[in-house]
Amino acid sequence: MNKPHLPDPAQLAVSADAQAMIERARAEGIETVWDRLKAQEPQCGYCQLGLSCRNCVMGPCRIDPFGDGPQKGVCGANADIIVARNLGRTIAAGASAHSDHGRDVLEVFAATAKGETTGYEIRDEAKLKALAKELGVAVDGRDKEAIACDLADAMLEDFGTRKQAISMLDRVPKARLELWQRIGIVPRGIDRENVEMLHRTHMGVDNDHINTVLHGLRTSLSDGWGGSLVATELSDVMFGTPRPVVSRANLGVLREDSVNIALHGHNPLLSDVIVQAAADSELLAMARERGAAGINLVGLCCTGNELQMRRGIPMAGNHLIQELILVTGALDAMVVDYQCIMPAITDVAKCFHTAVISTADKAKFPGATHISFDPHRGMEIGREIVRLGILAYENRVPSRVRLTGEPVEMMAGFSVEAILEALGGSPAPLVDAIAAGKIRGAVGVVGCNNPKIRQDYGHTLLTRRLIENDILVLVTGCAAVANGKAGQMMPQSADLAGEGLGGVCRALGIPPVLHMGSCVDNTRILVLAAALAKHLGVDISQLPLAGAAPEWYSEKAVSIGAYVVASGISTVLGVQPNIFGSPNVVKLLAQDLDGVVGARFAVEPDPEKSALWIRRHIESKRQALGLPAIDPDSIR
Ligand code: SF4
Ligand code: SF4
Repeated sequence: MNKPHLPDPAQLAVSADAQAMIERARAEGIETVWDRLKAQEPQCGYCQLGLSCRNCVMGPCRIDPFGDGPQKGVCGANADIIVARNLGRTIAAGASAHSDHGRDVLEVFAATAKGETTGYEIRDEAKLKALAKELGVAVDGRDKEAIACDLADAMLEDFGTRKQAISMLDRVPKARLELWQRIGIVPRGIDRENVEMLHRTHMGVDNDHINTVLHGLRTSLSDGWGGSLVATELSDVMFGTPRPVVSRANLGVLREDSVNIALHGHNPLLSDVIVQAAADSELLAMARERGAAGINLVGLCCTGNELQMRRGIPMAGNHLIQELILVTGALDAMVVDYQCIMPAITDVAKCFHTAVISTADKAKFPGATHISFDPHRGMEIGREIVRLGILAYENRVPSRVRLTGEPVEMMAGFSVEAILEALGGSPAPLVDAIAAGKIRGAVGVVGCNNPKIRQDYGHTLLTRRLIENDILVLVTGCAAVANGKAGQMMPQSADLAGEGLGGVCRALGIPPVLHMGSCVDNTRILVLAAALAKHLGVDISQLPLAGAAPEWYSEKAVSIGAYVVASGISTVLGVQPNIFGSPNVVKLLAQDLDGVVGARFAVEPDPEKSALWIRRHIESKRQALGLPAIDPDSIR
């Protein structure tokens, strides 16, 4: 490949560990995501605007954004139709990814209930019973396995097409549910809405961009209040509902004296078993026989978040660290499940001794060793994977190892249950602090890294500006890891916050930035917002809340943004979505949607300006609720 000139590493990432490894990769000629982005430039302008279509072989077609060239595809689709169809398919892909993850958890849960798995159990019986009651499954006098079997059946029904609404919508405030009913976007079945979106976006079906976008919202709601919620809730039942835990983050969590195994991807099903296997005395003895002091498990991306939240496993890094961790030369095995795992990792791993082990039959990686995940043999497979990591350790070349940095402490584990416990069992103290103006509002800062943005810059700066201005920040996914690495997620980080928020955090012993989990756990933010709205007897859209995805890249992030907005929370994006070829679709999403669902999107790449936008938005919501508010126009 032609090597284009790259900027200084200090402009590519915020954290020193990432910068050190980018420099090493460059010095050794190891290609990373930043090289590949540079090689792709200039990227296709039609695709960036959402104006290209290859939905059929009369095309591919593209619309000329300047008006000189074609304004319609071969079938007659104009810019509005093409942009809306592309957006709809993006939402469906993201919602499908989350929901398929949810179904995988559900299937293992069902098999566990029948006693067919090894390495799994029902750890949170109270949550199991609460969920069962919510879905109308009998609880009294029954053992947990019988309850779990019926609950699994009821949840599997949510994926199908035989119902008019998915099951957990009782959590949604009445006003919001009635609004969805009025505009016809109540999600019926998880699979159904996704399939219907693919149907609608076939040539010659839905040619009204407003109609397509509304179905996009419905599809995303089947993710946020459906598939992702199933994943979160059942992961809690099987692996334990997270409680606050202090852990560590950055590449400094790797250990020179130990077998280092990274668990990467999204689904906790196998990684949780690997955590159990790594404590096996025979495997520990095997590692020691080979000269290692122990077995050091570290997390990456959302599998890492799942393990950090529940087991305190240290976090090596977020999305753009996945190649850089290999460049340390100290990683013996990278175990991957699915989602956000770059195909490039096997190429980088070849430069070192690292074994890449794929585990999901739906996510194979040429160049990796594939060990098919089978929950019926969960523990056996977990041990086999740890064994492979120990064998790879023998091939480590000490002179190639470059460890970097000291890990930073971070607190994770803020499930809704844990937050309510910290508040004394009810949202009332949080509502009171918001009403009194000590906390101005709350913002979910979520989503990915994207090499188009200096890694972690958007997450960490936006978060800092919000907490300085007494806005509580709830984080998930790679945004959580970014803030953890930046030292913004410990109780003492209250000193970084404004007087009001800082005082509340100090009184409760919590950080001003609360780690609520992985990407599917954005549902926890929805559930908390719904609980606050119900407590106050208002709709979610009336609350002083906002969402932000400063560095998003994935289709899943689009689905998340859509269900957050459809649930009534305005959201600001740090990266421009591929919709700007249709001014009508942009107007719908950034303006008109406010009149339909009480929330809208904004795009603002500069985190300083994004913080101002959010502060103005929150103060205007406070004004409308009659709470003490700062004049939004005075915030600049
Ligand atoms: S669906 Fe229409 S716009 Fe798209 S590729 Fe086919 S002919 Fe072209
Ligand atoms: S936040 Fe984005 S990049 Fe990070 S794990 Fe989730 S989807 Fe992947």
